Amino acid sequence: MISCGEGGTVVSLQNCRRCGKLYLKQRSDYCPECAQWMADVYGQIRDFLREFPNKTMWDIHTELAIPLSVIQQVLKELEEEKK
Ligand SMILES: [Zn+2]
Repeated sequence: MISCGEGGTVVSLQNCRRCGKLYLKQRSDYCPECAQWMADVYGQIRDFLREFPNKTMWDIHTELAIPLSVIQQVLKELEEEKK
């Protein structure tokens, strides 16, 4: 992460976790483009599991063609949402 501050305003840049592009740091680990993509994928996985609650990560991976690391991340978020 690169930070530079001027007169109290701190601007941070960070690399997107998905595409590696530099972007203005927000709460998300992804650039705006990938954040949008993640939101789509999140919805897809959530709907998929709502319909087929017994499907595994691997099923999601093969049927929706989503990378396993992304599924893992989404499942973690879904788990936290339940609390
Ligand atoms: Zn990105």
